[in-house]
Amino acid sequence: MAGTREVIDDGGVMSIDVRGSLRFVALATVLAGPVQALDVGFGEVDITPKLGGREKVWLAGYGTGRQAAGVHDPLMARCVVLEEGRTRIALVSVDLVGLQFPAVQEIRRQLPEFTYVLVSSTHNHEGPDVVGMWGRNQFSYGVNDAYVAEVVGRCRELVKSTAQAMVKDVRVSYGTAEDRNLLKDTRQPTVFDAVLRVLVFSRKNGEKVGLLVQWNSHPEVMGSKNKLITADFPWATVRELKKKYECPVAYFTGTVGGLMAPPPGPTTFEYTEKHGLEVAGLAARAIAAAEPLKLTPMKVQAQMIYIPVTNRLYRLGLSMRVLRRAGFVSTGDPYRKGQAMSEKSPGQLLTIETEVARLQLGELSLAAIPGELYPELVYGEFQEPADPAADFPEAALEPTIAETLGEEKWMLFGLANDEVGYLIPKRQWDARKPFAYGRKKSQYGEANSCGPEAAAIVMKGFARCVAGQQGSLQAAEASRKDPGGEADPGAGKAKTGGGKRD
Ligand SMILES: [Zn+2]
Repeated sequence: MAGTREVIDDGGVMSIDVRGSLRFVALATVLAGPVQALDVGFGEVDITPKLGGREKVWLAGYGTGRQAAGVHDPLMARCVVLEEGRTRIALVSVDLVGLQFPAVQEIRRQLPEFTYVLVSSTHNHEGPDVVGMWGRNQFSYGVNDAYVAEVVGRCRELVKSTAQAMVKDVRVSYGTAEDRNLLKDTRQPTVFDAVLRVLVFSRKNGEKVGLLVQWNSHPEVMGSKNKLITADFPWATVRELKKKYECPVAYFTGTVGGLMAPPPGPTTFEYTEKHGLEVAGLAARAIAAAEPLKLTPMKVQAQMIYIPVTNRLYRLGLSMRVLRRAGFVSTGDPYRKGQAMSEKSPGQLLTIETEVARLQLGELSLAAIPGELYPELVYGEFQEPADPAADFPEAALEPTIAETLGEEKWMLFGLANDEVGYLIPKRQWDARKPFAYGRKKSQYGEANSCGPEAAAIVMKGFARCVAGQQGSLQAAEASRKDPGGEADPGAGKAKTGGGKRD
């Protein structure tokens, strides 16, 4: 079993479970013979909440008390299923502000035949509250739990039905295009991830089967006064791409922290549409530039992480049940779950459970990041030196996506499987006076972050996945379910980075 040995050496300190499954995998790979063909399926379902019932629908993303008064365009869940032999991966995007990890776990519990199910929210600011903090007022819970249960059920059915209508043996190409003019960075320092990334799936004869688009911006053109449910600009982007390429389109949100937003303009559907069409134009450039790449073999490395919540507003929200999520007492180890938080544990450091993952899809890596990543953490464009008035100007720099993945081609899904808020480089954390950049007030960001350690825990957890050192139950479970899905982690290293041009 020389192959197995190499895998283990490569992986470093793997847990026994993962070792065991890798050993099994090497055998399975030998029996299965060469890499199998890739099949793909696309599907979508309407998840617009019903209006006019007893429960009001509170719109999320800005202040409280914004009650939905109508629907401009439907909110959708869109799904891409990838299948290689017995390995099945579902990638789901929902037009919501941030579906929480417990809901995603609920979707997964009912899909045991899948190796991995990823659910990412577009971070839509013109749809229903699914987090809790945008209800009638700041003391009331804004989520209709029955609605979230319905979303869970619809996503599950969507994944199942998509897997039943697969297109066999598809070809894949990957392209990128960059345009800083389609973004505004509303927080200093000015750092962007203005690269749109796309996967194009085609039949052997060249006919398009579907597109997977990843772009990095807050869906919030309609602003804080709008009362009509809409998917915001991705509504127009997806509609346009569907029409132009005559195939299904799944839109995923990437890096939106720090803060990536559309350029300011009128909060009208005309401008929303115009901006959505501009993003579709950028996608068309990426599609035109796309080059063939292999998405097999597929392997998932996931890591459970426990993020300390030091944000007083979040803690208050949790104690007042405006935020409803299990808390765990910190063990001091971000990879180890503590005891459930209770009234008996006041004053102890609270953590929340979430997950970071790397999906190794042949020559492509997909980073699954459970919140709003600051773009500095993508390419490492940190301000040097940090502003001396920031709270921790000497803090260690977090590992970045580009550094961790090296020259591989990649995509990044933000708000993947969770929304834990902003993931801010610690050197930029600035909650205390004096404030950076000579400001009289703190910049916006920290108020919607678990705390200054969140980014490091997520990025180190991601690096751990890439190094094959993840030891989460989840990964072990995934490989147990489908040993054929594991393969040599050294395979499929590609030549060029995530499409950044400089
Ligand atoms: Zn945001």
